[in-house]
Parts: sequence; C-alpha cells; structure tokens
Amino acid sequence: MSGMADRTVDILLIGGGIASATAARTLRQEGFTGSVLLVGRELDPPYHRPPTTKGYLQGKQSKEDAYIDLPDDVEVLTRTSVMSLDPAAKTAKLQSKEEVAFTHALVATGAMVRRLPLDGANLDGIYYLRAPGNADALRKDAEDAEHVVMVGGSYIGCETAASLTTLGKSCTVLMQEEDPFDRHFGRTAAQHIRGVLESHGITVRGGVDVDAFVGEGEKVEGVRLAGGEVVPADLVVVGVGAQPDVMLARKSGLPIGDLGGVLCDARLQVEGFPGLYAAGDMCEYASVVHGHALRVEHEEHAAAQGATAARGMLGGTDPHTEVPYFFSDLADWLSLEYVGPARDWDSEEVEGSVEDGAYAITYLDAQRKVLGYLSVGGAGDLDAARAAITSGDPVAAA
Ligand SMILES: Cc1cc2nc3c(=O)[nH]c(=O)nc-3n(C[C@H](O)[C@H](O)[C@H](O)COP(=O)(O)OP(=O)(O)OC[C@H]3O[C@@H](n4cnc5c(N)ncnc54)[C@H](O)[C@@H]3O)c2cc1C
Repeated sequence: MSGMADRTVDILLIGGGIASATAARTLRQEGFTGSVLLVGRELDPPYHRPPTTKGYLQGKQSKEDAYIDLPDDVEVLTRTSVMSLDPAAKTAKLQSKEEVAFTHALVATGAMVRRLPLDGANLDGIYYLRAPGNADALRKDAEDAEHVVMVGGSYIGCETAASLTTLGKSCTVLMQEEDPFDRHFGRTAAQHIRGVLESHGITVRGGVDVDAFVGEGEKVEGVRLAGGEVVPADLVVVGVGAQPDVMLARKSGLPIGDLGGVLCDARLQVEGFPGLYAAGDMCEYASVVHGHALRVEHEEHAAAQGATAARGMLGGTDPHTEVPYFFSDLADWLSLEYVGPARDWDSEEVEGSVEDGAYAITYLDAQRKVLGYLSVGGAGDLDAARAAITSGDPVAAA
C-alpha cells in the first residue's frame, strides 16, 4: 500500500508514447494540479512515431522535431520500464526498484513489431521499423545498398519504399494481397496506389508468400518466395504488422480481449479495475460508435484515447466517441486520410477523379450506413463522413 511505497503520485502514466503524452497534456489543460509521473522505457521522451518511415527516414526531419511538447510540471522518466503493476494495491515497481503508489493509472504500453520467424531471420541487413533508432540504422546501411526489398504492402512497406526511392534506392514491395492496402481500402484505391508506386519506379509484386531470407555469409542477399524464386536484396525491410504490447498487463492480471488488447469499457476503464485506464495501440474498448469491441493502431486515435482516459481520471463519465482517424504519406507523391474503420463493406462510392489522384471513397453496408471513408489528395469531406459514421443513419444514394 502507499504507506510502504517509495513514493506516491496522483497519476501514473505507464508507457512513453503519444497516448500517455496526450493524457499528461490533457490533465493539465483540464486544470489538474496534482502530481503526474510518466514512465517510458525508450531512450527518447515521448515523440511522434509516424516520421520514422517518412520525413525522419528521408533525413528531412530531426528527432527533436518529432518530440511532443509536455507541460514542465509533468515528471518524465525515460529508459525506465515499469516491471510490475499491482492494480488492487495501486502500486507499480519500476526498473530502478522504486515502488510507486498511485491513485489513478493509465496503461499505454503500445505495440511491438510482428517478426517473421523464417529461415535466415538472423542475417544482417533485415530491418523492422518502430523507433527512430531503427530508421537511423536503416538509412546508414542503405548508403551502400542499391536494391531494397520491402516485405509487406501496407503502411510501413509502402511508406518506406517511397522514402527510400526518394533517397535513390531501387525498391521492390512483396505482399500476399494483390495490391497495396487492398484489405483496408478495396480494389479501386489499391490499384491507384499501386500505379503511383510503380510510376515512381517501385516494383510491386502482389500475391506472393515469402518463404525465407537467404544469404551465403552474414548478410542478407535475397528473399525466397514460396515457389523457390529468390528476389535479390541488399537490404530487407519487414512491415508485416504490429502486436499489442500486453506483457505488463498480462503479468498484472488485466483482462485481455479477443483482439489482443487490454479489455476496457466505453470510457476506457480497464474492465474490473476502477481507476485504471488503457489507451492507444493496446486498448481494446467497447466502442459506442461502432457497437462492438475495437482496437486501433493509429496515432491520432491513441492521442484521443489518452485525452478521454485523462478526463475519466478527473471524474468525467463520457464514453470515448471519437471516430478513429489516420493518415499516411507516400513521400510527397500521395497523401491518404481515413476515418472508420470499416472491417468489411457491401459497396464503395467514389467521388472525384481517381485518375487525377484527388478522390474520396465511401464504404457502405447493405443498409447504406457509412462504415468508412477514404480521402486521397485532400479530396472529399472527412467531417461529414465522421458525422455519418457516428449517427449510423443510412445515407441517400448519390
Ligand atoms: C514506423 C511507424 C509509422 C507510423 N505511421 C503512422 C501514420 O502515418 N499515421 C498514423 O495514424 N499512425 C502511424 N503509426 C502508428 C502510431 O504511431 C501508433 O498508433 C502510436 O504510436 C500508438 O501510440 P501509443 O502511445 O499507444 O503506443 P507507442 O507509440 O507504442 O508507445 C508506447 C510506449 O510505451 C513503452 N512501454 C511499453 N511497455 C512499457 C513498460 N512496461 N514500461 C515503460 N514503458 C513501456 C514502449 O516502449 C513505447 O515507447 C505508425 C507507427 C509506426 C511504427
């Protein structure tokens, strides 16, 4: 209990990402004057992760450009893991062995890259991107590389291929799906995005399974496909998704949902643990907007959830109703924005010109309810789409 702890804080924020950082900012914006401690295990204080595959990888942005402004009176510990959490006693043990007692806590431990445990996985020259340090190492190694192969045709694979192309590398994207992003955005957008990548010289190969990484010595020299073909590579970047980091949560006895996240109610309070909240990539919440459990891995969503959790700690009772939003940039060739998410849909309606790269797609169910909305090149009206998703009312045929 708090009497035995080394120190006591009003609010403990576990994890040093955007969700925790936004919770800290919101607490102060809402006028909270109590003590706030944010504990993260990375080398850097909280930062925006998206530039890792974009401006930062391209060398256009510094690490500090991506740091998130935090109020001075929030204490931040970097390079410090929270080793254990006792939600009943309301205490946490830090890597420093210090025990911290708290009144409220946020668990926002984010996600980890999903690794491909294939033959050759330990060869040098295979990269996964999550933190700026990964981008530093990739950029340095890429100086002497000509051909880079991306495994995975989603955000990480396509953004990295675009960024490395602007650095003069010859890039190939390999993926199981036919076209990039087609699981998220459907055929029309996926074929357009493929065309944009190809028009900048990127080789895009869909419908392929990667079997192994190959190399005679210590360094990777190629990627072997299921049929036996080897695609030559000086470097490989793997972007095959992330998995929620629920290691601490599991150890602490917190409930884990079917989507792999910590199970939370509509206000982001951890089920069965009053005073304990979760937010961001590892939060699986009962979404009142969608009518089912949801877990989302996008930056603005994580920020919005951090804010909701902070308001909950201060006595707020509103559910989290922000419609998940995300963006992606393929170099300066193409910008994508999306609200939803639609898991599957019955029809798509396109407005604007796909050919000109300025269009929007509405994803509808059979009752003409809006499930998702994609805006490419700034086209369309994301706010109207948000409102339609929130209301759940069928929309009239165009
Ligand atoms: C390369 C890359 C590019 C991206 N680009 C986009 C984009 O363009 N658009 C978009 O919308 N989203 C993008 N995302 C996703 C977005 O960055 C994430 O959704 C967001 O960072 C999630 O924030 P978070 O706070 O939940 O988790 P994280 O950012 O993962 O932060 C959690 C932090 O907690 C730390 N931690 C974990 N366990 C402990 C512990 N026990 N003790 C202390 N600290 C701990 C972790 O090390 C980590 O630093 C991108 C992600 C990556 C990896």
